[in-house]
Amino acid sequence: MNHEGGRSCGPQTVAATFGVATDRAFGAVSPPIYLSSTYTFEGYNEPRSYEYGRSGNPTREMLAEALSKLEGGAGAVITSSGMAAIDLLLGRLRPNDAVIAPHDCYGGTHRLLKARSALGQFSVSFIDQADDMALCEAFAGGPSLIFIETPSNPLMRVVDIVKIALMAKAAGICVAVDNTFLSPAVQRPIALGADYVLHSTTKFLNGHSDVIGGAVVAANIEKARELRNWATTVGACGSPFDAWLTMRGLRTLYARMERQQKTAALLAEWLQDHPAVKIVHYPGLASHPDHKLASKQQTGFGAMLSFELAGGSDAARIFVESLRVFTLAESLGGVESLVAHPATMTHADMGERARGIAGINDGLIRISVGLENEQDLLTDLAASLKAC
Ligand SMILES: *Cc1c(COP(=O)(O)O)cnc(C)c1O
Repeated sequence: MNHEGGRSCGPQTVAATFGVATDRAFGAVSPPIYLSSTYTFEGYNEPRSYEYGRSGNPTREMLAEALSKLEGGAGAVITSSGMAAIDLLLGRLRPNDAVIAPHDCYGGTHRLLKARSALGQFSVSFIDQADDMALCEAFAGGPSLIFIETPSNPLMRVVDIVKIALMAKAAGICVAVDNTFLSPAVQRPIALGADYVLHSTTKFLNGHSDVIGGAVVAANIEKARELRNWATTVGACGSPFDAWLTMRGLRTLYARMERQQKTAALLAEWLQDHPAVKIVHYPGLASHPDHKLASKQQTGFGAMLSFELAGGSDAARIFVESLRVFTLAESLGGVESLVAHPATMTHADMGERARGIAGINDGLIRISVGLENEQDLLTDLAASLKAC
């Protein structure tokens, strides 16, 4: 019954019940998974709703519809990874198109943009999107797409989506926002003026660190159709099993986010007062330079934070090796808390010079806060900070 029922319901209800109890064959409450790669025709020249798994699959479609609803879009495409989602969008660009991207964007995005522009498929400029002069200059160059990531990784800088979207609209430029760090539970870029929302569903949307996946949500029905056809053309589709797992993860997104960001805020406050910590980057702190903007465009502050150890790289090594509850690993958004050292892990490829410019130094630690008991996490941080 809930396949259409989400329209007037709150997003928590959509996430928890989309597709529930819609099975006509057996009345299954949990929606079944369709693994079939191909579908029978009813008869000669009589295709059903699905023909072949690359162009469409009922399980993947359920996730696409649910995500599109939660983001307030007109349609979505589910891809095999977050990078495939970004690449799907970039694949529509032509050689005389220009892209504006944040200078501190996700490492994989940076690599992809550089690689495609090196092949002459479009040009790209990386700028500080909080710098109005740099924005105006970049807009003057006549770009066709501006790519936004907010909050940024790993320094949690926040950029003004409404402001950039208004500038873009006036100039006839498309706006794409990577919403991976917050998810629609905390930020809805389409309502703020974005044309596309991108996700690595690997992170908060799935939330259980057992799927690599991605999504593009389009605000406009024509653009959604175009992307969907393009995904079929290039074969960017995600697997039905991954879509099923992600749907299962999505059911609890709102409850997870609520709890995880509450714990993150507690840890950020606590870290801020610790003598071994130089600075904490968390938009929920009143001391964060973008706190006001984050309060305006987000409904919460997320479960990601980073902080700088006063003792630099030596302290960072001792700190991550002393942790017992946090796990040293890349990625984020799962039920388990993770710790990463950007200089040697997520941002190692960037090189020391570029890291220096972006403000990512050797004492910087990034954490993704999970669902553990908050006292256990605090005790773990306290014991490890004592060791450094
Ligand atoms: C992880 C991530 C990606 C890439 O997603 P994959 O699923 O790893 O391909 C893109 N953007 C952001 C912000 C991410 O955190």
